[in-house]
Amino acid sequence: MSESAIQRVVIVGGGTAGWMTAATLSKLFPRGLELILIESDEIGTVGVGEATIPQIRLFNATLGLDENDFIRKTQGSFKLGIEFVDWTRLGHRYMHAFGPVGGRDLGLVQFYQYWLKLKQQGKAGELGDYTFNTVASRLNRFMRPINKPNSPLSQIYYAFHFDASLYARYLRGLSEARGVQRLEGKITDTVLRPDDGFIQSVRLNDGREVTGDLFIDCSGFRGLLIEQALKTGYDDWSDWLPCNRALAVPCSSVSPFTPYTRSTARTAGWQWRIPLQHRIGNGYVYCSDYISDDEATATLLANLDGKALAEPRPLRFVTGMRKRFWNKNCVAIGLSSGFLEPLESTSIHFIQSSIAKLVAFFPTRAFSEVDIAEYNRQVQFEFERARDFILLHYKANERDDSPFWIRCREHGVPDTLAHKIDLFKSHGRIFRDQEELFTEVSWIQVLLGQNVIPKGWHPMVDLLDQRELEQFVGGIQGVMQRAAEVMPDHAAFIQQHCRAP
Ligand code: FAD
Repeated sequence: MSESAIQRVVIVGGGTAGWMTAATLSKLFPRGLELILIESDEIGTVGVGEATIPQIRLFNATLGLDENDFIRKTQGSFKLGIEFVDWTRLGHRYMHAFGPVGGRDLGLVQFYQYWLKLKQQGKAGELGDYTFNTVASRLNRFMRPINKPNSPLSQIYYAFHFDASLYARYLRGLSEARGVQRLEGKITDTVLRPDDGFIQSVRLNDGREVTGDLFIDCSGFRGLLIEQALKTGYDDWSDWLPCNRALAVPCSSVSPFTPYTRSTARTAGWQWRIPLQHRIGNGYVYCSDYISDDEATATLLANLDGKALAEPRPLRFVTGMRKRFWNKNCVAIGLSSGFLEPLESTSIHFIQSSIAKLVAFFPTRAFSEVDIAEYNRQVQFEFERARDFILLHYKANERDDSPFWIRCREHGVPDTLAHKIDLFKSHGRIFRDQEELFTEVSWIQVLLGQNVIPKGWHPMVDLLDQRELEQFVGGIQGVMQRAAEVMPDHAAFIQQHCRAP
């Protein structure tokens, strides 16, 4: 090992971020790197964060996880997408499903462009009727994709719901087995090097002092190292995304066992519903300018499918991102790096993505400024574009029943989002910019779901005559429905593959 190599990494925090980081680094650096994770039982973890997006399967593959074992140990379930209820207007619902929309594209023109023309002629159903994961979700079906060319069954994209505390425990087991040293205790002090302000060590309340070369701040909202010690600063996005509080409560399970997350718009925010094997996770994300905590609690408790299993737990947050995610020898991962409300289940993905970037930019003790700047640029880009996507759900609403929704519709949006909406309104065009997290199929489902309807369609659609167009689009709907009907029920799939023997 060269002289300047990083020898000891100190991870501060044992929530989802801390243990995901520890599990990955211990897998990818099986020797030569000492890994220490410090967590405080007294402080605990945020305890929410239970819905994911399909990219997490890459993370699991990197760790070499057995997926059934992972589902079993985290009381998890499968997720085909997110259903949005009452977002566009009361009584309306649509789905942002994972995976492709429609069957196949024709040449360079995507399926939904053909659908747009037929829809505007009043001859097509909802976009969800042609989106395989949506069709399967409506039937509460799930299975893993199979190798059957030209069948929708080969194109099932999925993610997971899981119990956050069981997930951290699961990853802790893997990490400790690979040599990660866990220290329990509360950090009371961060010692900076006098010459350059880099972090030298952290001190625990029992007097222990832990030195390191690289510090990963996974301490949650408080940003113990990145903010409290290094004063990095925070960009506050509350003006765009004004929700600032949440209440979380589990309730008992009910049938059917849905393979998707549900988000229902409420008077001053929205309510999540995440089905797990042993309970349903629920929460109300809201803006305290428009509703009191008591009213929000009453709304949440009045809208549970099962019996509440605990008192609602309050959480407060400020939407935004750290001005730098990597500052000196400290990298902030997880809630310490910034926060976007969980509408599109992005936070755990950001943890995964930050870890992947940290590995790509893994430093030496020289800490290259140019590498750090590029890391920060990439994470910032990802945060900002995901913010735009989340903001779209709020901006494009037609609700007149509450001041909150009117404010969201009338408020300005970043130029990057305004441009995307304008482009789409023109001829339904949408392009993924660089490494944006959400692809075209995500954007079109939410744009169309929120009733942003383009004035026209791609001119190449008119190359098909009317009869061909109707056959092409109509045929796909039947194929989707028939394929979904052969899939097993979600509950039966879990029972067969992911229950303890
Ligand atoms: P935490 O869980 O807060 O962990 C912080 C750790 O730092 C703890 O171990 C704590 O003990 C330790 N610590 C802090 N201070 C000290 C100290 N002084 N000394 C020692 N240890 C210390 N994400 C999703 O992807 N999907 C979702 O559905 C989702 N839903 C969410 C809903 C809400 C309401 C909120 C607020 C967040 C949600 N998230 C979601 C985000 C998700 O919860 C987090 O990204 C994830 O849990 C990671 O948290 P963390 O590990 O950064 O912080």
